[in-house]
Amino acid sequence: MPNTSVVIIGGGISGVAAALNLAQRGVAVDLVEREPRLGGNTLDVCCKAVNGQCQHCGGCLVAERLRAVCAEPLVTVHLSSTITNIQPAGDTFSYQLVTANVKQAKSARAVIAATGFDHIDARTKGPYGYGALSMVITGEDMERRLRAEGQSVYDCAVLRDVAFIQCVGSRDEHANRGWCSQVCCRYAVRLARLLGARSPQTNITIFKMDIQTAGRDSQAFALAQQEGIRFICGLPAVVRRSEKDSAKAALLFDDINTGQFRTNEFDLVVLATGIEPRSDALQLAETLGVERNRFGFLASQDGAALSIPGIFAAGCCQSPRSISESIVHATAAAEACYRYLQEHTQ
Ligand SMILES: Cc1cc2nc3c(=O)[nH]c(=O)nc-3n(C[C@H](O)[C@H](O)[C@H](O)COP(=O)(O)OP(=O)(O)OC[C@H]3O[C@@H](n4cnc5c(N)ncnc54)[C@H](O)[C@@H]3O)c2cc1C
Ligand code: SF4
Ligand code: SF4
Repeated sequence: MPNTSVVIIGGGISGVAAALNLAQRGVAVDLVEREPRLGGNTLDVCCKAVNGQCQHCGGCLVAERLRAVCAEPLVTVHLSSTITNIQPAGDTFSYQLVTANVKQAKSARAVIAATGFDHIDARTKGPYGYGALSMVITGEDMERRLRAEGQSVYDCAVLRDVAFIQCVGSRDEHANRGWCSQVCCRYAVRLARLLGARSPQTNITIFKMDIQTAGRDSQAFALAQQEGIRFICGLPAVVRRSEKDSAKAALLFDDINTGQFRTNEFDLVVLATGIEPRSDALQLAETLGVERNRFGFLASQDGAALSIPGIFAAGCCQSPRSISESIVHATAAAEACYRYLQEHTQ
């Protein structure tokens, strides 16, 4: 499809997957990423292979696609860049590409937003003590350390008891975060299995509302139970410093299995934080002139098409998703975009 170009805003895995799909169909793409490198939040996702056995976490679906997009002649990557002043102009959109304060007027036949998500800030869940208690970390912290320092980073005899607390910041209507973040059950179960395999002396407990795993992911959950990881129904009310040992955390929880209010102590508490709309999602929606849903994610009509014809969404800017699910959604967005281009070719 000559003389056709699409601008994709956001160079995470969703933007990259959409760009590759369109380029394979002969469509030229401007891929605009505001950070100095591509990859987005996937750059912090660690490998969760247990004893060398893949846990299918999706972490290695990214590197090859990043290499491919940089080598793709039909894709022009603009790093440390963003776009402003998008305006419909007949069958095209005019916009300004801004790179290091240099503005360039450009146009595109269609737009794909792939701007991703922000991590939920665990400090907004005050009773869990994140930021005040050093033994309380987030899933994001654990993923980052494992990725940066390797799988041995938590191999430590001091970690006798580790707790994971699910749904931290998600599924919380009082905080206007009524959505399920989709990924945190899966990454927490896999991280728990990894910790357990590396440190057999560690007792691991997962506090949950329920576990969102399906298909292949249910295997990890079943294996975790077989391996002795304890699942407790119900989330702790509060996490405090232990009065007996100041290096430990005391978790107060209502154990619905026994009907008793209990306190257990842990050396490490991992808060399974999730996904929320980017802090500037409203600004992006206003720039594009598109609508958001009640939680602030971009509101699509049929999965990818947004409220203005010719503008589409891919990945977590539309709803929380895993890496593989983001790739599938970005592919659907690219296909919808391609159909739109065919229908609107002069
Ligand atoms: C703690 C945690 C652990 C996770 N672990 C896993 C896991 O083990 N396996 C798994 O499959 N998934 C995991 N995920 C989910 C995974 O991170 C997402 O599926 C993936 O990052 C979604 O990619 P994306 O491209 O949609 O968004 P992002 O990764 O957020 O990428 C969006 C990109 O857009 C750029 N951008 C934003 N706004 C603009 C703008 N205005 N202009 C230009 N560029 C912009 C950003 O800089 C970023 O590079 C995890 C998520 C969390 C929170
Ligand atoms: S899918 Fe995940 S666990 Fe499997 S090899 Fe890749 S990064 Fe490691
Ligand atoms: S994926 Fe699991 S931990 Fe995350 S919000 Fe949904 S139910 Fe809670």
